[in-house]
Amino acid sequence: MLDQSAIDTLRGNEIPPQSNFINGRWRDASGGGIRDVISPIDGAVLTSIADGTADDVDAAVAAARAAFEDGRWSRMAPAQRKKIMHRFADLIEKNALELAVLGVRDNGTEISMALKAEPGSAAGTIRYYAEAIDKVAGEIAPTPDGTLALVHREPVGVVGVIVPWNFPLMIGTWKIAPALAAGNSVVMKPAESASLSLLKLAALAQEAGLPDGVLNVVTGKGSVVGEAIGLHMGVDVLAFTGSGGTGRRLLDYAARSNLKRCYLELGGKSPNVVFADAPDLEFAANVCANGIFRNSGQVCIAGSRLIVERSIHAEFTRRVTEIAETMAIGDPLQADTQIGAVHSEAQLAQNLNFVGIAEAEGATCLTGGKRVREETGGTYMSPAVLDNVTPEATVFQKEVFGPVLTVTPFDTEEEAIRLANATEFGLAGAVWTSNLSTAHRVTKGIRSGLLHVNTYGGSDVTVPMGGMKQSGNGVDKSLHALDKYVDLKTVWMKL
Ligand code: NAD
Repeated sequence: MLDQSAIDTLRGNEIPPQSNFINGRWRDASGGGIRDVISPIDGAVLTSIADGTADDVDAAVAAARAAFEDGRWSRMAPAQRKKIMHRFADLIEKNALELAVLGVRDNGTEISMALKAEPGSAAGTIRYYAEAIDKVAGEIAPTPDGTLALVHREPVGVVGVIVPWNFPLMIGTWKIAPALAAGNSVVMKPAESASLSLLKLAALAQEAGLPDGVLNVVTGKGSVVGEAIGLHMGVDVLAFTGSGGTGRRLLDYAARSNLKRCYLELGGKSPNVVFADAPDLEFAANVCANGIFRNSGQVCIAGSRLIVERSIHAEFTRRVTEIAETMAIGDPLQADTQIGAVHSEAQLAQNLNFVGIAEAEGATCLTGGKRVREETGGTYMSPAVLDNVTPEATVFQKEVFGPVLTVTPFDTEEEAIRLANATEFGLAGAVWTSNLSTAHRVTKGIRSGLLHVNTYGGSDVTVPMGGMKQSGNGVDKSLHALDKYVDLKTVWMKL
């Protein structure tokens, strides 16, 4: 149960101007530049962050490298590192509401979702990888008699982490927790419009005892700070979540610099494939609506395409539309709000444009697709249901990253799989059916990293999360994610 009065108190807290966090100290940007942080709740200026520069990135990478080389973290006893990471998670839990409210103030996610998805998931992720520190070991390979081969798992060194604005704490810790657990140092760049909760996270890491220089945060523009991290010769691995366009740039930076490994978690256009024999169509309609409209659709795995068997197309779409119309759009810091703010004016304009294009290309907008609550000064949009969207349509192919659902009917299982796969993306999806064989065939047929059966959005830190096709490479979460942040070294001995 959310404590509305505590939320109201926290939202009134003044936020002082923020600086970069480099080598354990708060430092203004090298050029002294600052950027305003605008709240999508009401369009007001919340505070400012440092407008970081390439020089700031140099300083952060130098601090991270020095920390790595002198072993203050990379060679600290595993039990001690584990203790610090657990303390870090404790502090996140202790400050959970403050972190969540801070994050909502600059990114607009409804607080009911933010509290669980942000500090809640961040603390859990840090604990999970803290436990891996003294449990994941190297190998002794089964080599011929008279030889001994040791396979060491060594930290790579300095990890560059670049994250988007939708879930900074959740996505940030998916990367920094395994990177730190493996013994690396980190230079992180939050999205310029949603840096506040990650800056607070860095302060909590220091309070927990993480040595100076091990976790550094440089804020500012992607094309300046992000580019400098991407091109830096001292960054060994890049872990990124964001759009495909930026992902492409990072691969280019790696090619132009030191061939650093780039792990990309990119966009999606995830399908909900609903068969007429789904066990509970009312439940399915509810989950499908929530799976695309919560957080105004600003969820990488949002189920943005409904692919529904023709015999139930009209009735199921009607039900999803009704649910969309009853969802509470409002102030994201009200506990009962179901759809908070669209992150920015630019994102809102892009969402509305997609709806316009869809209608021009023949789709029927059954509901929503309009700017609402404009009088607040904030950026809000009513959830849109677009019916009869063909696979060729722009809105079927492109990620909107907004509260926009497309509906496309199918006649056969083969057609459903073909439609589900008919985009460049392969992030998530679901199949709704009572038939076990159908469920197995369809989940096998869809090329996506995360598939659900008769549910949507369920998963936890124990299982991998990553994309196929142009949704990216590598995975966050699970023990597999640790592999991104280690090099394997073989030591072969003749006995
Ligand atoms: P974005 O690519 O615009 O920005 C992401 C980050 O990259 C930000 O920190 C930004 O400052 C930085 N950046 C921008 N330009 C850069 C450049 N030239 N060089 C280096 N860094 C640069 O994405 P966004 O709009 O913040 O986030 C939305 C996108 O993220 C959507 O496509 C969404 O699907 C995706 N996303 C994916 C996942 C996932 O797990 N697959 C999760 C959340 C969001």
